[in-house]
Amino acid sequence: MKNRLTIIFLIIFFNSFLFSQSSPKEIIDMSEIVPGLRTDVKYATNDNFAKQKLYSVSKAYGSLTMANSLKSVQDSLMKIGIGMKIYDAYRPRTVQFLMWEVYPDPNFVADPKSGSRHNRGSATDLTLIDLKTGKELPMPTPFDDFTEKAGHSYMNLSNEVLTNRAILRTTMEKCGFEYYSPEWWHYNHIVSSAYPLKDFQMR
Ligand SMILES: [Zn+2]
Repeated sequence: MKNRLTIIFLIIFFNSFLFSQSSPKEIIDMSEIVPGLRTDVKYATNDNFAKQKLYSVSKAYGSLTMANSLKSVQDSLMKIGIGMKIYDAYRPRTVQFLMWEVYPDPNFVADPKSGSRHNRGSATDLTLIDLKTGKELPMPTPFDDFTEKAGHSYMNLSNEVLTNRAILRTTMEKCGFEYYSPEWWHYNHIVSSAYPLKDFQMR
């Protein structure tokens, strides 16, 4: 009897320990945290480099901590009449394997063996929009343009485009993200960078 109680106690103890460890890393639908979050999830359509629908739903999932940081980004942009639109965030690891098969270039698609920050719910791809019209602001390239023009060091662009790219970058950096040199749209969330790789399907 005493042994059984000890076992039950241990189960409860370890469960609560695991829960407290995992809860801040929970991956959620970020629209629960970011009010009115706008998305255009290209991988939930055929309009992407893999030319196939890779997600069953058009939703932006991410770590709770990343969602909180994106809320700060939204608040900050709103003051200057700008909004954000998410192209991608959490990505199941099985999708990473598929993408790697289609485009095995580590500059633009992370090797699924080590996994992408997207698989950890700690990266997001996004652009800026005009808050009034909802229209995307001009950026260097469309999403997933895998050329040097997409990189932050590419400067042969109009002043308007350079300004938009800079607004996105400075706002993201202020709110806990770091830029990724080859892609203007991709940002890694610093706090959740070491969260575990995940493979659950979004619903
Ligand atoms: Zn990305």
